[in-house]
Order: sequence, then C-alpha cells, then structure tokens
Amino acid sequence: MIDALPPLRDVIARHDLRAKKSLGQNFLLDLNLTARIARAADERGGDLSGCDVLEVGPGPGGLTRGLLAEGARHVLAIEKDPRCLPALAEIAAAHPGRLTVLQGDALAIDPLAHLTPPIRIVSNLPYNVGTELLVRWLTPPGWPPFWQSLTLMFQREVAERIIARPGSKAYGRLALLAQWRAQARIVLTLPPEAFSPPPKVSSAVVHLTALPAPRYPAEPAMLQRVTAAAFNQRRKMLRAALRGLDPMIESRLERLGIAPTARAETLDLAAFCALARDLSDTRD
Ligand code: SAM
Repeated sequence: MIDALPPLRDVIARHDLRAKKSLGQNFLLDLNLTARIARAADERGGDLSGCDVLEVGPGPGGLTRGLLAEGARHVLAIEKDPRCLPALAEIAAAHPGRLTVLQGDALAIDPLAHLTPPIRIVSNLPYNVGTELLVRWLTPPGWPPFWQSLTLMFQREVAERIIARPGSKAYGRLALLAQWRAQARIVLTLPPEAFSPPPKVSSAVVHLTALPAPRYPAEPAMLQRVTAAAFNQRRKMLRAALRGLDPMIESRLERLGIAPTARAETLDLAAFCALARDLSDTRD
C-alpha cells in the first residue's frame, strides 16, 4: 500500500476508463511498480521531496500516485483524455496542493509557467508522441535545460536506441542526441504483462541526467545536420552520405582522421562533434 486511495483496477472500473489505442493507453496497475519508477527518478537514491515533477499522460494516475508517495514536492500532470480527470481529481484531493492537472495535448502546452526548479520529468509516455517529446526536451534553446533528469518509459526498442553505442544496430541520431548532453541508462525493463492492456512489445525505463555542459563542443544545428545526413543513408560510406554537406568532404574527413570509407554507425560522438565543428568553422 503506497497510499490510502482505492486500487487502480477499482478506479478504472468506477470511471469506466477503457483503454483507447489511439491515445497509446497501456496502464500500469501495480502501485509497487510505479513507486519503483518514481524512485528511479532520483539517482541519489533519496526521495523527490525537493523537486517539481512534470508527468505527461498520467491516465488513471498509477505513476502519479507513485511520485506523490515518493515525496515529490509538486506534480504537474498533463493528460489529453478528459475521461481521466475525475480519477486524477481524487488523487489531487488526497494530496492537497501537491498535484496540478492540465487537460490537453502535451505537445501544445508549455509547462514552465506551472513548475518551479529543480524540475524532473517522469512519464510513462504514450508511444505515439514519446520520441517527439524526448527530442524536444533534448533540444532546448540553451543548455543546461529546464529539467535535471528525465525518467521515461518507452517501447524497449526506442530505449535501446537512446542508450546505443557505436557499432550496434540501434546506434543512430537518437543515441547521439541523447548522449551528447546527458548521461543515459536503462533502469528497468518490463514485460507486456505489466500493463493493462498488454502492448505487443516489452518496455523499458530510461533515466537521463542532464550534464552541465555538452561532452564535446559543437553547434547544435550543425551536429543535427551532420548526423541526419550520415544516418539517413547509413549503409553508405561517409564520403557519399555527407557529400551534400560539402563537395570536398573526403579530404575534410581525412584531415580529421576519419576514414572516408567508414559508415556512420562506426563513428563515435567525439568524431561527429569534431566534424560538426570543422564544418561550422569553415562555412561561408
Ligand atoms: N501514466 C499512466 C500509467 O503509467 O498507467 C498512463 C500511461 S499511458 C502509456 C499514456 C497516457 O498518455 C494515456 O493516459 C494517454 O491518454 C495520454 N496521452 C496520449 N497522448 C497524449 C498527449 N499528446 N498529451 C498528453 N497525454 C497524452
């Protein structure tokens, strides 16, 4: 028992919250599990009491309850499905002043007006907007970002793309974007049966901690251009994949000590950043 509220199965039945596929609704019903995810949000192993937490897609509130039980100072929950609001209002009533619920599309709402630093983001994301939200959180106008850490549930395949290392099949733009300015690791993997209804694939929780500064200097827009060009044609050699960025790319790569015949998936973050810097420096 993490709180005195009714079990989630009862909440879902009472409010008739039949899961909608179009909203990516796969609910977590085990409150011990949601409390574990909330604990994973604090890498120091303590509680969340000093932090505001942004949660996207609280649904019937399993993870929300976990976050509140773990002591989050304030939770801002953004939920698109209005059917979930009465259930969430019950949680808010049980924790006066600690839960604010906004109804709407998380892609269209600016949460910052409702949050006070330090801020952590903890969510079991709807699969259809999960990657888009992550990319937004990883590409703020300046660094460090408004959040200290992200603790996010994804389909396992997406989680593996976030933490992937060079040379692996999952390595690509998402790994580079995430690992350039954050420390990323998988903290929990869950089988489909952990959810109701069970999705087709396994899920995993990724914990990302914002680094104070990028691991290697580079202009964000140029790094994005280079990685997009390299991985959009990942089977091609770099000299062919990157020709659009610079007709003389072969000699540039050689000068930087990068084999022009290498493929994008073998190049590490340091090399991509060096290439982005070199292209920025010599741009007309
Ligand atoms: N947090 C709950 C849990 O762990 O059981 C529900 C997670 S479920 C995978 C995703 C939730 O995101 C659903 O409640 C769904 O209605 C909501 N959702 C879907 N698209 C959304 C959007 N664009 N903005 C905000 N919430 C959204």
